[in-house]
Amino acid sequence: MKFDPTQLADESLRRLYEYQIIRVNEIYSSFVNHYLPQKTQRTHVFDYFVDTNLNASTGTRLGKDYIRVSSPTIYLLRSFFDHLLADDRFLSEISPSTVQIDIGTTRTPNLIIDPEDVTKVREGNLSTDQNRLLFSTTMADLCMTFISCHEVGHIVYGHTRYTRLFFKEDCLNFFDFWKRPKRIDINHAMEYDADLLAATLIVQYLEDVYRAAFKYARHAEVYAGLIKKGKLLEDITIFCILFIYALFVYLSNGAPDQDSTHPQPLVRALYIKDVMLAQMGRRHPNLDMAYLLDAMPRYWDEFDQQLGQLGFYQPESVLEKITELIDEKNNVLGKKASTIRPLWQKYSWIPSDDWS
Ligand SMILES: [Zn+2]
Repeated sequence: MKFDPTQLADESLRRLYEYQIIRVNEIYSSFVNHYLPQKTQRTHVFDYFVDTNLNASTGTRLGKDYIRVSSPTIYLLRSFFDHLLADDRFLSEISPSTVQIDIGTTRTPNLIIDPEDVTKVREGNLSTDQNRLLFSTTMADLCMTFISCHEVGHIVYGHTRYTRLFFKEDCLNFFDFWKRPKRIDINHAMEYDADLLAATLIVQYLEDVYRAAFKYARHAEVYAGLIKKGKLLEDITIFCILFIYALFVYLSNGAPDQDSTHPQPLVRALYIKDVMLAQMGRRHPNLDMAYLLDAMPRYWDEFDQQLGQLGFYQPESVLEKITELIDEKNNVLGKKASTIRPLWQKYSWIPSDDWS
């Protein structure tokens, strides 16, 4: 059943749902207009459907590309980020006006810890600071846009001609990758490609966040602390990378085993981080990469501690054990992706124009 976002009572949430539809149209059209001129008849559908978890899927049916998003997806992301931003020891630069933990936060019993099961809730702090809430909304929008870009990636690369893909199922365990049948190899390589495209495109979103900080008074207030530090583009890059990482941690939190058998969110997040950093470096030759590489691990550590305090799985805790495996896995995946890419080569482009 289709979900109609105009029913949403919370205005800012409704706007997030509605704007996502417009943005995905723009992203999709920029691909179609630039690279598939002979296919001007090609149409697509983006909609929300009534469900109880966080997910998205994409496919092509009867000549129509479609992306369908589970109804609670954006709500779940924003609610999770509201809680993540409630602790003052964490990201205090986001709102320097809040000086004590118990000022500007409230306890709620509504922290949904498993996006697979919205009935599993626990108590958590919730920020009431309007600056942090706006930042949380922005990061929820970023992550939904990332998911949409990933799904558009599947369409652009031609994957949807072969199969229907679910965002949540991308969270398979990559580590027995080479023991799996060939079909699974191909699926994983498809995910690798879709992440590559999404991570390449998503930097336009963080450039928008940067511009908004100078353009709109309301946003300038949110980023005041960071603007003062003088490394706004670098800091925004770090935060955007971390919140995309949080998306994967959240998605995998239903995993019962917190040991090294589930390092996959970290694997994807590290790969996405590398692609985003490389793309930012290409687009912004003046970006202070030394600052970025120095500051990111510190922020990442704080972020992980906060995730742990909320009761979330911390892939970082197994990082030492799996670093070599990650490198090895990314190598294997990269090779696989490039060998099977010729299958859908003619769709393997990235638009030269910005979609934002
Ligand atoms: Zn996918």
